Order: sequence, then C-alpha cells, then structure tokens
Amino acid sequence: MKCNSCEREDVFSVSRNIVVTEYRNVHTDGKKAHKSGGGWNNYKTGGWKVEEKTPTDKMYLRCNACESEVLVENLKGIGEIKIDDKKGVVFVSNMFESYSGKEYAEKRKYKRRSTDS
Ligand SMILES: [Zn+2]
Repeated sequence: MKCNSCEREDVFSVSRNIVVTEYRNVHTDGKKAHKSGGGWNNYKTGGWKVEEKTPTDKMYLRCNACESEVLVENLKGIGEIKIDDKKGVVFVSNMFESYSGKEYAEKRKYKRRSTDS
C-alpha cells in the first residue's frame, strides 16, 4: 500500500493513545522551609513518577514516513479499516465502490435497454 500524502510504500503502523497517570509528592506540613512566595506548598524531592498507563480505545493507522493518519475515505474501494491490538489490520472492501465508473455505467445501460423492450 502506498501513502496518499508522501507516496512512500509499505511504511504504515498502528498508533494508539495511552492515558498516563503520574504523581509527584508535595509538602503539606505548613513549615516555612517547604513553602514559597504566594503560599505555594513545594514538591518533595524527586520528579514525576508514572503510576499507571491505560490504553484508550483509540487506535489508528498512520504513515510512519510522514506521520499522517490514514483515513478510510482516502482509500479507494475500502469501506472500513479494522484494527486489532493483537492480530493487525484488515481492509474491508466496499462493494459499492469497487465498480469503476465505466463498469457501473455499462450495467445501468444494459438494465435500461432490457426494460425498454
Ligand atoms: Zn506518508
């Protein structure tokens, strides 16, 4: 498959959004040494720590070369992009779009002729 934006081939990946919960301990003992101007209770030593990473339901196909998201409406003849976090990706074809314009016109012409007689 070729990217519509940058024309590179076979450079796709699935991205998913993850909610990360972090925490950082803060002084609440009211001591002057643990406060700064404006009444701020300062943080204890140590930076932010990761507590939890929760994947969201949002997964999407994107081009790894130009980082643009692949939208189903930009894929010819495809009605749906199915993504599974273990199996991979399925492109479900759209029957109504799989006829080229010419084929569709010919079928309609044939139908019209048969009803005329
Ligand atoms: Zn691209």
